[in-house]
Amino acid sequence: LEAKEEFSHKTRAMDVMRPRKSDPPLTVITQDTMTVEDVETIVTSTTYSGYPVVVSRVSQRLVGFVLRRDLIISIENARKKQDGIVSTSVICFTDYCPLLPPSSPSVLKLRSILDLSPFTVTDETPMEIVVDIFRKLGLRQCLVTHNGKLLGIITKKDVLKHIAQMANQDPDSILFN
Ligand code: ADP
Repeated sequence: LEAKEEFSHKTRAMDVMRPRKSDPPLTVITQDTMTVEDVETIVTSTTYSGYPVVVSRVSQRLVGFVLRRDLIISIENARKKQDGIVSTSVICFTDYCPLLPPSSPSVLKLRSILDLSPFTVTDETPMEIVVDIFRKLGLRQCLVTHNGKLLGIITKKDVLKHIAQMANQDPDSILFN
């Protein structure tokens, strides 16, 4: 029993989250500096269900989470129906949009599709607790932070894979049943 207890506390959010050390960095969207074209490139070159939105790549301060399908639909609609929205239009997820030179194309405001309080845990959080939170809150994904900076993401599928791995290593464990 003791061994099991120790085992259950050993795995932390940082061990399950993506990206892994050898992976390319997390794909994020910045809150008010990317263009329509930049974001279109992201959604066509990756297949993730969603993207964390950050203040800036350098700060990695989390602003919210945006779903891939909402981005695709909103950009498509804006390009069709909204005057002045072009590839070089800046996308803005903030309340106050950046002041751009008068010659710049219209800004595309997408605050309405941003989830402003995505669930987050710190990288030290034991996976046992993360699993519990996923179950109880019915989460699809959870973001991982360290000292307030965005570090990674754990999806429901990542959690399920982790549970399967745990069961393999320790078939008698009742922790994740
Ligand atoms: P699922 O886990 O259901 O396949 P996704 O397609 O969103 O969902 O994610 C696939 C994998 O990529 C998961 O392991 C997840 O942790 C990781 N991932 C999800 N979103 C991002 C992102 N924005 N940047 C980098 N990796 C991500």
